[in-house]
Amino acid sequence: MDATGVVICLAIAASAAWGVYLRLRQMATVEANRNQVPADFTRDVTLDEHRRAADYTMAKTEFSIVETIFDAAISILWLALGLAPLYAAVAALVEPGLIRSVLFVLIFSVIASLIDMPFAAVRAFWLEERFGFNRLTPRTFFVDQAKSGALELAISAPLLLGMFWLLRAAPDTWWLIAYVGSIALAIAMTVIYPTVIAPLFNKFTPLEEGAMKRRMEALLAKCGFESKGLYVMDASTRSTHGNAYFSGFGKAKRIVFFDTLLEKHSPAEIESILAHELGHFKFGHVRQMLLQAAAIAFLGFAVLWQAFGSDVFAGWFGLPNDPGIVFVALLLAREPISHVLSPLLAWRSRRAEFEADAFARDLVGKEPMISALTRLTRDNLATLTPDPLYATFYFSHPPVPVRVAQLRAAR
Ligand SMILES: [Zn+2]
Repeated sequence: MDATGVVICLAIAASAAWGVYLRLRQMATVEANRNQVPADFTRDVTLDEHRRAADYTMAKTEFSIVETIFDAAISILWLALGLAPLYAAVAALVEPGLIRSVLFVLIFSVIASLIDMPFAAVRAFWLEERFGFNRLTPRTFFVDQAKSGALELAISAPLLLGMFWLLRAAPDTWWLIAYVGSIALAIAMTVIYPTVIAPLFNKFTPLEEGAMKRRMEALLAKCGFESKGLYVMDASTRSTHGNAYFSGFGKAKRIVFFDTLLEKHSPAEIESILAHELGHFKFGHVRQMLLQAAAIAFLGFAVLWQAFGSDVFAGWFGLPNDPGIVFVALLLAREPISHVLSPLLAWRSRRAEFEADAFARDLVGKEPMISALTRLTRDNLATLTPDPLYATFYFSHPPVPVRVAQLRAAR
């Protein structure tokens, strides 16, 4: 490894150190506010519930500190020590060429997933279990892992093969062609994901007929949203956390409610959650996110083009210049850059949430929205007192106290 390689490894370590610092801040703030329910919530959240949310946040954050340090150490170990022997092992079995490059990436990703699996298991069976959220059994856990692993291989193998093939067939323009292809795939995914992939893991059923559905349909009609797009997902098979989301666009758009959410909320609250999701639809947030991803992907492909085009990048880490190994090394080395970008992406996402909240408020009034948010926070044991800097960096949704204050402040 040369000096640039060392600097990149130091950047990975620095990024992890910054992540740990933010998490420690989060823990300190939550701990400091553990014994006082924020003024806006004293009516709806008991001190016991507030303390339990603090304990859950502390446990989760502690766990993620361990994970952050472990991930950075593993990335650096891969770059400094692991990739070269792994490549030598693959090279001993497979002739140089397309298949060798693809196989190297796939074997790497299988090993990386196996290294990650204990974390997922501890999260479900120790962390979530302790706070009563886990509904996974060891069997469903392993079936999920096997399914998602197989799916990942089935999708990435042909894509990698296509990319490495293009790289040889069109050395100057391959990255533009691959970029356009990846955008087309991302658009296709907005249809394929909800209709083909998500049903491999969960059951989606159209919302039941009845008073609730009629009430929702009236709201949908007001916003020009086809009512075929309302689904209930059996999230309760895995966890008791409640949620709702909006995905896709055009004919593929749908709003999905977790069954756990429908169980716990009043009809007025559910209506306000639907109104919020309709806000995402009205403002075209899915399209905006896709455009943002397209801009990031463009930069990503430009970097790949540069890295594949010379042996400089592989040389930084003293690695053989094979596209497979360069691809993996880039995946490992990009972490500090994604981390630096995360506050920008989180900020854009939070802005979209405020817009959707404002839309819901105009549609159904602020009271049901406030009570829905309060109940969601209470049931999911989300902290009401996050550290502001931590939230700025990582929160895709504004902290609930800020959302509630914003709703209350409106006329
Ligand atoms: Zn939202």
